[in-house]
Amino acid sequence: MTANCIFCKIASGQIPSLRVFESDDAVAFLDIAPLAPGHILLIPKSHCSSLLEVSPEVLSRLTAHLPSLARAILSSTGATGLNVLQNSGESSGQAVFHLHFHLIPRVSDDGLGFRWNAGAYAAGEAESMQRRIRSSLAGH
Ligand code: 5GP
Ligand code: ZN
Repeated sequence: MTANCIFCKIASGQIPSLRVFESDDAVAFLDIAPLAPGHILLIPKSHCSSLLEVSPEVLSRLTAHLPSLARAILSSTGATGLNVLQNSGESSGQAVFHLHFHLIPRVSDDGLGFRWNAGAYAAGEAESMQRRIRSSLAGH
């Protein structure tokens, strides 16, 4: 539990939330300001700030709950699809610095949208980006 972390307090029950699911290491609850009815947040009970900090083991246990939550959200809201959104870092729009996945129910023409303006690479830029990311993954 990290002091002053609102989602740690939700995980421990110190702050109330409308839970839809709980396991030993995860909680899912209704977002207080939903983008659509049934908008759920899935969090690990143990604190970590974002995808940039989480261990693969914690992340894989957490994300294992996504398929059943997705099916339950669709069948209980009448949505026909959903977006899974994970913000990491202030520049991404992350406002609560305890790792969480948004599950946002969607229907056609709901007006929510998600299509951002796509860019394009200049000549050689994609290959250079590929090299940089590959060498970063390789640890040099
Ligand atoms: P972020 O922008 O960090 O990805 O999203 C944080 C989300 O947490 C927002 O959608 C916001 O509505 C939700 N949220 C913030 N505080 C609370 C709270 O106290 N209770 C609940 N249920 N959701 C919260
Ligand atoms: Zn926390």
